[in-house]
Amino acid sequence: MESQHESFEYQSVQTLKGVGPAVATKLEKLGIVNIQDVLFHLPLRYEDRTRIISIGSLQPGQQAVVEGVIEHSEVRFTGRRGRGRSGRSLLCYISDGTGGLLLRFFHFSTAQQTNLANGVRIRCFGEVRAGAGKLEMAHPEYRRLADNKEEAVEETLTPVYPKTEGVHQSLLRNIAAQSLKKLNSDSLPDWLHGSLLEQKSYPDLAAALKSVHNPMPDASLTAIEAGEYPAQQRLIFEELLAHQLSMLQMRQRMKSARAKSHVVGQKKQAAFIKKLGFDLTASQQKVIHEISGDLEKQAPMLRLLQGDVGSGKTVVAASAVLTVVSDGYQAAMMAPTEILADQLYENFQQWFGNDEYECLLLTGKHKGKAREQKLAAMKNGAASIVIGTHALFQADVEFKNLSLVIIDEQHRFGVHQRLALHEKGKKGLFAPHQLIMTATPIPRSLAMTAYADLDYSVIDELPKGRKPVSTVVVSDQRRQEVVDRVANACKQGEQAYWVCTLVEESEFLQCEAAEETAVRLQQELHDISIGLVHGRMKQDEKEAVVRRFKTGEIHLLVATTVIEVGVDVPNASLMVIENAERLGLAQLHQLRGRVGRGEKQSACVLMYRSPLSAKGKQRLSILRETNSGFVVAKKDLQMRGPGEVLGTRQTGLIEMRIADVVRDEYLLADVKKASNFMQTHYPENIPPLIQRWLGSSQRFGSV
Ligand code: ADP
Ligand code: MG
Repeated sequence: MESQHESFEYQSVQTLKGVGPAVATKLEKLGIVNIQDVLFHLPLRYEDRTRIISIGSLQPGQQAVVEGVIEHSEVRFTGRRGRGRSGRSLLCYISDGTGGLLLRFFHFSTAQQTNLANGVRIRCFGEVRAGAGKLEMAHPEYRRLADNKEEAVEETLTPVYPKTEGVHQSLLRNIAAQSLKKLNSDSLPDWLHGSLLEQKSYPDLAAALKSVHNPMPDASLTAIEAGEYPAQQRLIFEELLAHQLSMLQMRQRMKSARAKSHVVGQKKQAAFIKKLGFDLTASQQKVIHEISGDLEKQAPMLRLLQGDVGSGKTVVAASAVLTVVSDGYQAAMMAPTEILADQLYENFQQWFGNDEYECLLLTGKHKGKAREQKLAAMKNGAASIVIGTHALFQADVEFKNLSLVIIDEQHRFGVHQRLALHEKGKKGLFAPHQLIMTATPIPRSLAMTAYADLDYSVIDELPKGRKPVSTVVVSDQRRQEVVDRVANACKQGEQAYWVCTLVEESEFLQCEAAEETAVRLQQELHDISIGLVHGRMKQDEKEAVVRRFKTGEIHLLVATTVIEVGVDVPNASLMVIENAERLGLAQLHQLRGRVGRGEKQSACVLMYRSPLSAKGKQRLSILRETNSGFVVAKKDLQMRGPGEVLGTRQTGLIEMRIADVVRDEYLLADVKKASNFMQTHYPENIPPLIQRWLGSSQRFGSV
């Protein structure tokens, strides 16, 4: 190890300018510890700041650099509910002779306000959107320009880095630039053997990294997205290879594992099903049967369960849990959001809480003493059923005898997060059984690559009595009719959701938009009780609101997409989604799945911001035509391409930095060959290659 630390790639980030201990701690949370981590924290996308665009030629949706003179600025009161913040925004009108543009700042300092005075020339960068009668930019990055002086634009495309929690893009750009400057062709070892590179005529590693971080302006953004440049392909190939090799290692480890065999008593199983108050569908029964078969074996189950939203996967999970806990072992279930974990906990509490099984909920909000007590109950085995979020795979979490791990809505987790929980259950040669559940249908060929050796089960029918949700697509110009419809539904004792989607890239602004919507709707609908949930609220606030919605005290729930998964309120029968055109079809389908859970006829209103392109309308109309998640996914695949639909790159099946298993599928055959070649001839290169690409995500605790 000693010599590693001296070499270039293992030098600490603190050797870079501007990185002290405090910044280093923040970077560590992103998995960035050394120069190699900086170099391999690859851009998610790029912005073109190499040209100044004339205001007159701007199009909504475009990201652009513009220059103009401030003609007028004013502070306007927006009536937003201040949470200690003033409800004001700063509006600046700029013009460059070809047209005018409105800049909007929701939070600003007095200094900024004085700075942005009439006559000042500024350059700004941001996303253009259509405002009322005029194009606008919300919170552009901007800089005052000296009078009459030409200032240079960027020479290369500007990288936008993923996962920035608490760290500014500018810092990431700065440290990447410093690291790239130090980089030459000998500073990083190349773990790909020369013969592999020659076969493909790939550029060397340093050159590839340089051009992927800062592509030349003549690179087309579309070609970059398609992964067409040799520099990209070299890194894509290398990343796929690292994953393939790591997958092979995992498989080998898994194959050698043993598991506890469990069989549930007939009586217990029957009593559980009776408690449900409904009959299982044939599909549910079939899958429960498949799972029992796995649990009975002395080898760990590794099963993927696919089933559309609302198909009743939770009950199937519960049946597996019962099998394990009734045998005196522990089961853990991990959900992607706290709301969902909370909901699952309630379900399990209701089904098993009165029996001899103790259920326990562990999420990020449990701290200090409460957390310690929970950890103790998990460790000494007092808690049989543990439900939680990411909090479950933190380093100090231990189980007494975990024998079943269930991951819900797995598309939200990376492979490594799910493995982290799996590792918790390992005791010597013994490994826990694993059940992975998802509502996102995945083509089989892809699943084989992404999941190595998983078995599959599918729930392909919905519970009886479900009425398909009737979906309409309307322009936001008909908002009043939609509001009336909500009013009517609520007056008749029904409940509704109003979802505000991501118009802004920033979560902060998205939450503000939801707050504003709630205020506005409350003004329009006096006698209806309205609740609000969004991602920036405290966890207990969120839960309290969801609970009041469940009990019917709240009629209309205004929410951001945080409610996408898990919220189960059968009495809710109307779903309104604002700016629906901004979301992927699969996500819309998930959201729509929040209604149509009861006996009532439910409806979903997809409201788009007009004007909407013909293609956009066609996309939304797919949801109008079908209620099947599988059909939606298939059409979405055809229209948008698989990488984007399945989110394989960022959130999905495998956490990739640059590769996209679907888009880059054509490389897979060669990747497999290369992995055999490396195993045979260069096994010593395998660990550092895996470390380079998967290093940070293998440090589970810090994810
Ligand atoms: P998902 O597959 O999306 O996770 P859930 O497990 O949340 O679906 O189930 C959705 C709703 O359907 C829940 O309210 C659940 O109690 C109910 N449900 C599940 N199975 C059946 C069934 N066989 N008959 C009637 N209702 C069911
Ligand atoms: Mg579910």
